[in-house]
Amino acid sequence: MKLGDVRRIHSALAHTLLNVWPICPLAQQVVQSELEGWSLRSRDTADKYLRLIIGRLRSGGVEQSVSDVLGGVQNELQSIDGYLNSMFDMTVARVRDCYQSWADWTVPTVRLEVSAARNPIYPDHASFGELGAVACVPPRKGTDPAVVKLTFVPSLLGPPSWASVPYLLCHELVCHANQAAPMDSEDPFAEGWMDLVAKRLHDHWIEEIFPWAPALARDAANRLYYLIEQRWPRMPEPHMTTRAARKVGRVAATWVEKKLQPFQDVQEPVPALVRLSLQLNRASPTFAGRVAFIGKVNNAGISDHELQAKLLAELRRWLEGHSSADNILSFE
Ligand SMILES: [Zn+2]
Repeated sequence: MKLGDVRRIHSALAHTLLNVWPICPLAQQVVQSELEGWSLRSRDTADKYLRLIIGRLRSGGVEQSVSDVLGGVQNELQSIDGYLNSMFDMTVARVRDCYQSWADWTVPTVRLEVSAARNPIYPDHASFGELGAVACVPPRKGTDPAVVKLTFVPSLLGPPSWASVPYLLCHELVCHANQAAPMDSEDPFAEGWMDLVAKRLHDHWIEEIFPWAPALARDAANRLYYLIEQRWPRMPEPHMTTRAARKVGRVAATWVEKKLQPFQDVQEPVPALVRLSLQLNRASPTFAGRVAFIGKVNNAGISDHELQAKLLAELRRWLEGHSSADNILSFE
């Protein structure tokens, strides 16, 4: 079996178990140990390997509802790449519409590239079936198509990892595919502020993007959302630095979100923070400018009352249609 085959088998198993996963702790343990041990079976055919996993689950005494759905894994194997494409196409369409409605969209086309990796990518300790998926958008030139690279780690690819794919896609497409500034993993605006916006949109769209188990997808996204701002002693770089930047950016977005809330027009299809952020992501072309903006917002929110009054006045003008994202970026 090639690594790519294992990725597809584990995805199909994860997809099949989506709805029964939360109710069978025993299945969670058995699945995790099978996922981890896949390399011992690398000489098997895909078919034999899949039968072995199903057999282990059934003989392990899992809940009847788990046993009942296992017969469907083989069929899901045929559909699994179709599911990925459907999640991707739907997310691209939603994000593009949103940018086109409230800011602008400059990306000619966006492609999905799926691959598999042997080693864990997150430095954290994973719960059963978690942290088996990661995504990025490599820098692109001019009119090149944007590429979203989705990488699965088969040894961790259980239902929670599979259900976290929509959040990963929302992050890459909302934060990065259309951003005006060059990519930088320490950008607190792209990785923190816009990530909060991506999460809000994810929660809004999830029934459509992940119709198979939206509640599990929400839960998986929540867990990942909080995990990727956690830091602990001796955490390896770049995570120590990138997570700090993410946290600082999220604090700024949260403060502005709270200030905009009272002015929320219920008729508007998306919250004011989302509209403003899409414009800011297009209007801020440099990493240094983004760092400075987040710094100013956080100072305004915490200690500098004069600066706070200026930011609030500028936000008010923006809400009334008398100010632009450029003015908000340069408030001081
Ligand atoms: Zn990112």
